[in-house]
Amino acid sequence: MIYSLKKIFPLHFILLALIPILVGCIIDIELIELRLIVIQLIWIVLLLIVLNIIKIPVLYRIVLTLYFLIGCIEIVHWVILKAPISLTSLLVLSNTTLNESFGFMEAKSTFWLTILVPYLIIYIFSIQSKQIQFNLNIKNWVVWLLFSAASFFLIENLVHERLIRKGTPLLIRVIDSYISQKTLFDEVAANNEPKNILVKNNSTSPSNTFVVILGESCNRNHMSLYGYNRNTSPKLGKRKDVISFDNVISPYSNTINSVLSILSNHNLENNIKVNKRIDLIDLFHSANYSTHWISNQSPIGIWDNQVTVFANKSDHVTHVNLSSSSSFESTYTTSYDNKVLEPFIKTLHSSAKNKLIVVHLMGNHISYRKRYPQEFDFFKGNGEKNRTIAKYDNSILYNDYIVDSILSILATDPNTKYSSAIYLSDHGENVYDDELNRTGHNYSKTIPKANVEIPFIFWASESFKKMNIETVNTILKHKNKRFISDDLFHSVLDLNSIETEYLIQSRSVFNQNYNSKRIRILEDGYDYDEK
Ligand SMILES: [Zn+2]
Repeated sequence: MIYSLKKIFPLHFILLALIPILVGCIIDIELIELRLIVIQLIWIVLLLIVLNIIKIPVLYRIVLTLYFLIGCIEIVHWVILKAPISLTSLLVLSNTTLNESFGFMEAKSTFWLTILVPYLIIYIFSIQSKQIQFNLNIKNWVVWLLFSAASFFLIENLVHERLIRKGTPLLIRVIDSYISQKTLFDEVAANNEPKNILVKNNSTSPSNTFVVILGESCNRNHMSLYGYNRNTSPKLGKRKDVISFDNVISPYSNTINSVLSILSNHNLENNIKVNKRIDLIDLFHSANYSTHWISNQSPIGIWDNQVTVFANKSDHVTHVNLSSSSSFESTYTTSYDNKVLEPFIKTLHSSAKNKLIVVHLMGNHISYRKRYPQEFDFFKGNGEKNRTIAKYDNSILYNDYIVDSILSILATDPNTKYSSAIYLSDHGENVYDDELNRTGHNYSKTIPKANVEIPFIFWASESFKKMNIETVNTILKHKNKRFISDDLFHSVLDLNSIETEYLIQSRSVFNQNYNSKRIRILEDGYDYDEK
């Protein structure tokens, strides 16, 4: 019986189908979903049994050839981008010249491409193989058991209208999402010009680098820096060169509205429409800065499309999270934030005199366990609730390491003398912090405080401080003032001495004319300070 099974499911076919996944397992096993392997096997079973029934050799060879070609694409993709094919990687590739794509390749990658040689040999052997005899034994019950199981899987997914999303091999899923997201690709291609605005760069230093580290779902009440009982921010806590603001909230409790508001002149009070807003990329570009966006968030999906279109106005855009085809998918896949460090170093080494760098982290987004590597699995808890809190706290511990690393790189980079940075989170996160025992950050009605209470940390190099003594003194004086991050726009322009009609001093928390009396009414209509 085994002999006849081997004839129906020849080893060469299975190798052609599974070698690309095997290459993926060796390159980064954390990015391989078990489901992917199962789906691949199910399709092999179905195709081979059907091909055995219809007995047309040329059709068999066409299927083999298709598997071979798709396999080659997948292997090359794994080797170059270190990730499975995803819509994200298509977006990145469509935005990158071929030369740059090969820039992702390291020396040892070239070695990996030699895997294509045995792969080709298997293919040549398989289309010539005499093993194709199409001798399906009708009495072989194992064949029919496999066939029924595979058919059941497909029909079940078909009935529930999720065949493409959950029941097809990766490439088909990716092509399907590509077709449905085509408008995003067009929009990204069309919106890559920042506005030119009349500005005056009043900075007296010979060069300047400003970094916004944009965190994700970080509730400051889980940081020891802000008094949390677990030591979750040991590194930032030790630093003598950071100033932490302790009364800052985000305008919204979701990424897209917050990010677009934090970086533009929109705020909760003026409600300027998206296409009428002026943002930091426009203004820094106009002030002769080179602008950089480095992101570990997925550029595709309902939460991120608009941010991607926005980010794309920067001179240099680097997406390092290629593991998923949508922002939703990226919530349960792994892409640690340390991936931003290398492009960050490269950016600092680039030749421009003045730089604006936005680093968008995956931070502390749900699923918490996917946000930190094993070495940071430090806090433990009993029971589901405490375990969830422990995982969130571990992600805060890892985030502490990432933010501290970025600051250290900035502080010690020999090319970057005059620099400053701000770390803040797009919004907070409720990790059983409110009385309703909830987790997450998206609520339609009332917003718990945990969802908007964010960290806000200022850092500057010694040279920058010497040049801006008065501003640094004001910053120190204001660190306990209340602030909403939708006015970060004004604070950043002010800090970097960019003069423009769009800068309102009373909205800059770094300015001595700052008005801290602004009433903080959130999107749910409640006054935060009276909650
Ligand atoms: Zn967010």
